[in-house]
Amino acid sequence: MAKILIVGGAGYIGSHMVMSLVLRGDSVFVLDNLSSGHLDAVWPGAEFIHGSLADRDLLTRLFNEHQFDAVMHFAACIEVGESVKHPSKYYHNNVEATLTLLDVMVAHGVNKFIFSSTAAVFGEPQYTPIDEAHPKQPVNPYGRSKWMVEQILQDFDHAYGLKSACLRYFNAAGAEPGGRLGERHDPETHLIPLVLQAAAGIRPDIKVFGQDYDTEDGTCIRDYIHVVDLCDAHALALDQLLAGGECAQYNLGNGNGFSVRQVIETAQQVVGREIPMVNAPRRAGDPAVLIADSHRAKSVLGWQPQYDDLAVIIEHAWQYIRSQAG
Ligand code: UDP
Repeated sequence: MAKILIVGGAGYIGSHMVMSLVLRGDSVFVLDNLSSGHLDAVWPGAEFIHGSLADRDLLTRLFNEHQFDAVMHFAACIEVGESVKHPSKYYHNNVEATLTLLDVMVAHGVNKFIFSSTAAVFGEPQYTPIDEAHPKQPVNPYGRSKWMVEQILQDFDHAYGLKSACLRYFNAAGAEPGGRLGERHDPETHLIPLVLQAAAGIRPDIKVFGQDYDTEDGTCIRDYIHVVDLCDAHALALDQLLAGGECAQYNLGNGNGFSVRQVIETAQQVVGREIPMVNAPRRAGDPAVLIADSHRAKSVLGWQPQYDDLAVIIEHAWQYIRSQAG
């Protein structure tokens, strides 16, 4: 049983991670400022601390009190559009606050770190599927903030022996199959929850951003990965670090691309009704195709996604939306 601090454990992916580690018997502590997370998403059995990872004094007290075996970091701002408008917020929250956390870890001799990174570190794809060696040329402050932390982590390994795993998510989606946790962003910007909100009548329609991309049906293609599969990869990466593993980066997706139209059509089959869709202009900064090559996670970590069927991913997200609607 390991003692793990999960920063951002009240958010979408973090809350699924907390659940998974609590259920396997780890001792889990959650630090979250609830700026976008939800207290009721923190799985029972985890100890909750309300606060910010930018608060050096709070972190110092926490690390004085507990000898953590590892830290997992899910607390970040994640909206590309907002990052273009407010880069300062992104560099403070995603880079500076993370640096504060890393400093406190080093000062307390905690040297294992799992970091939520993103496909946005690659920028416009130069080839597809995207493997870990693909050039990193992020095209917005969000992607740059994550790439900066990845580089900081390499330097912290060399200088302080801090071992980290950077997990680069493609399109996280779905929800734990029991309908108890799910995606609850405010405002919601992600395709699958928006499509399902349109299906549930919570919003009038789903807007399809761009119809003239260089893809078969003209809409963007993405690689959707189930949040439970993402968390499985984190748990494996954590175990590898706990066993003395070296720093590593992993791209996480299913290796299958689905267009925006295919997602909407699959959702219509899952929910059994028409979902009103409206053509809208392209959204700035969207590459036409983003698909992961996840061979490294499979061969090095032994990761095997269980829910690689898009209909199942959407079904689980739908169960959650219905459970929320009461
Ligand atoms: N998208 C869309 N309508 C929406 C939200 C998203 O057409 O209301 C498209 C978006 O342009 C992208 C894909 O759906 O091509 C996935 O977007 P999302 O924001 O879910 O994830 P991202 O790929 O930006 O990480």
